[in-house]
Amino acid sequence: MNDFTESEERVELRKAVAKLAAKYGQEYFLTKARAGEKTTELWLELAKNGYLGVNLPEEYGGGGGGLGDVAAVLEEVGAAGCPLLLMVVSPAICGTVIAKYGTAEQKQHWLPGIADGTETMAFAITEPDAGTNSHNITTTARRDGDGWVLNGRKIYISGLDESKNVLVVARTETVDESGQKTGKLKPCLFVVPTDAPGFTFTPIPMEFVSPELQFQVFIDDVRLPADALVGHEDGGLVQLFAGLNPERVMAASFATGLARFALGRAAAYAQERTVFSTPIGAHQAIAHPLAQAHIQVELARLMTQKAAALVDAGEDLAAGEAANMAKYAAAEASCFAVDTAVHTFGGNGLTQEYGMGALVAASRVMRIAPVSREMILNFVAMHSLGLPKSY
Ligand SMILES: Cc1cc2nc3c(=O)[nH]c(=O)nc-3n(C[C@H](O)[C@H](O)[C@H](O)COP(=O)(O)OP(=O)(O)OC[C@H]3O[C@@H](n4cnc5c(N)ncnc54)[C@H](O)[C@@H]3O)c2cc1C
Repeated sequence: MNDFTESEERVELRKAVAKLAAKYGQEYFLTKARAGEKTTELWLELAKNGYLGVNLPEEYGGGGGGLGDVAAVLEEVGAAGCPLLLMVVSPAICGTVIAKYGTAEQKQHWLPGIADGTETMAFAITEPDAGTNSHNITTTARRDGDGWVLNGRKIYISGLDESKNVLVVARTETVDESGQKTGKLKPCLFVVPTDAPGFTFTPIPMEFVSPELQFQVFIDDVRLPADALVGHEDGGLVQLFAGLNPERVMAASFATGLARFALGRAAAYAQERTVFSTPIGAHQAIAHPLAQAHIQVELARLMTQKAAALVDAGEDLAAGEAANMAKYAAAEASCFAVDTAVHTFGGNGLTQEYGMGALVAASRVMRIAPVSREMILNFVAMHSLGLPKSY
């Protein structure tokens, strides 16, 4: 990034992705979702053109770009009406963690398939009892000969039905020098095949209209080889955070893409719909909220680009703060933009034909996931403002 503008390459990337995604559009996306089908053609076409793995290392089939590039891809597909949730997890979380902490064999094994779209990888941290408090997760990895045995439960895991593997956050038991268990648990990351014996998942019926589904997961004595562990057993939270800052930046881009789509549609509708001799967009009651939403979205996009640039520069601490702020700002902007857009359409805002109502639940997703609005406010209050911890 330079002088608050994106590089020429990034601008060209955006244009190319926007053009590709426009061939599909919201009608395609919602029709697939409502029919219980997948948007595989779009996913594979993005991959074939190098956009899906644009952030992954070139030697493993990626484009050698940064998080800012893959975030731009996600924002543009969203702005065309195709918000692809699995882009948040597969190339951005799983791809980043494996590229950063995987062995050469693990990178060779998993990254090319993530980049070319044939080996989508899901990500599982959330648990029913821990919820927002991911320090409380109880999925446990026990040593078993050379390998591992995993047990636990996960919830709201996206895309398991279209992923061959899932990166699971589990905890290993720590032992002291004499080999006794200390009771402390360390977070570790494991690649688990979704067809592994003992790994079962069932869809959660959601009101969110998307071809990408959420699942609850049961992990019962799932045996894994030693090389299923990504990174070092003692690497702890640092390795996890390698994936979480990209996750927040991608969530922000999902939200701004969605918001841009909603505002584009609403502005066009406000130009053409006339009920009192002028287009409804001539009434400030309609125009001003749309303008306010546009401003909020542009502010959130700027913060998202800053956060991505900090991640790409390896400034992890500053990136953490900026990525949280970007995710917060983008989710709020998106909820306001979608709400305003739906209202602009009047009754048509709630019909299936206009596709606006479907955006309501989608816009709420990023207020809750991957980290809720309240937890970001807690983070900013404590870390940016030095206020006491409230929980
Ligand atoms: C569509 C969708 C897709 C998802 N995909 C994935 C995925 O692929 N992988 C994955 O691992 N997870 C996924 N998630 C899970 C998501 O990350 C969690 O839903 C989220 O972290 C919140 O956890 P929870 O739902 O248990 O809410 P809870 O933890 O039960 O929280 C409920 C409410 O209480 C508030 N709250 C809790 N504690 C505090 C506090 N200390 N201060 C103030 N407020 C508080 C929260 O902010 C929230 O508003 C997905 C969720 C959705 C909805």
